Amino acid sequence: MNVEALARWYADEARDLPWRATSDPWSILLSEVLLQQTQVARGIAYWRRLLERFPTVTSMAEADLDEVMHLWQGAGYYARGRRLHALAVEVSDPEGPWNGALPSPSTSEDVVAAFQQLPGIGPYTAAAVASIAHEVPAAVADGNVRRVVARQTATLQPTTADVTSLAQAWMDDAHGRNVAPSAWNQAVMELGATVCTPRAPRCSDCPVQQDCLARDHASGPTAFPAPAKRRVITERLVALVDVDAQGRPHLIQRPSEARFGGLWGPHYLDADGSGVTDECERRSKAGEVVHLLSHRRLEVEVWVGQVEHGVDPASKAISTLDERVLELAIGAWHRPFVESAKED
Ligand code: SF4
Repeated sequence: MNVEALARWYADEARDLPWRATSDPWSILLSEVLLQQTQVARGIAYWRRLLERFPTVTSMAEADLDEVMHLWQGAGYYARGRRLHALAVEVSDPEGPWNGALPSPSTSEDVVAAFQQLPGIGPYTAAAVASIAHEVPAAVADGNVRRVVARQTATLQPTTADVTSLAQAWMDDAHGRNVAPSAWNQAVMELGATVCTPRAPRCSDCPVQQDCLARDHASGPTAFPAPAKRRVITERLVALVDVDAQGRPHLIQRPSEARFGGLWGPHYLDADGSGVTDECERRSKAGEVVHLLSHRRLEVEVWVGQVEHGVDPASKAISTLDERVLELAIGAWHRPFVESAKED
């Protein structure tokens, strides 16, 4: 790989993303956590919104988890918000080892290892923040890097160890040629995100096309890497939505270890579990919501009943699935009144 050609290309072509204008570790950590499963355009909006409210790690630590989850609402993969709050609390603990600051070369000999001791931080995020905020020459290995490695070497299924070791060799080469680690890691990821894309790589615009074994391969570049086989599990659930006379649902806060933990929503039962028939007998069926997560298909039967006091759902952090469930349930709750008004 001609590392200088890729570094030059990045210097000229890098997208203007707001977190690229800062070296503040907290701002960079927030961007990395958000971008793991959120598209860039949405990630920018959430990054701004969260940073405006929580400009420092301590400011997030001082906030309730509920408020963090409310601001995270709609960004998906809510465990990230919960873990980020747990990280902020741990870093800001006056009796803990971090002294209110994220790991840095002045406090930790091995910054990447130190980051990995924090809640929710894996090898990718640790290397990304250490390199981008502190210029530690630690290579990142995310999905974009994996694709570039697979194509440059025409490898169908590179293992994590293969990707990490080649990415680190490129990083060492680039670092030896005075390319900054922050620029290098972002250059490889940027190539994967904008040129060496999954379905339509633009090989003729690629700054490292000369070294690429996939470019003229008989199977074509998109054969690399071979798609991973995904097993999607279907889960059948029953949502019990009880609504008061004003059309406001009763909501519970999910325990932190549960799916959508920390968020609010109606009570759920396993559709094949005990007690379902009894609970449904006291309610009417509103319909069904099908919701897809990365490895799961959730089929949710929605039943509506009555309750004395509900809450305004807008005042709570609610998952996208539960927004859909509540919309269906509350729509069904209103319907008999609309229909009887028409009859009058
Ligand atoms: S030449 Fe094509 S396949 Fe190879 S790295 Fe560049 S964009 Fe990807």
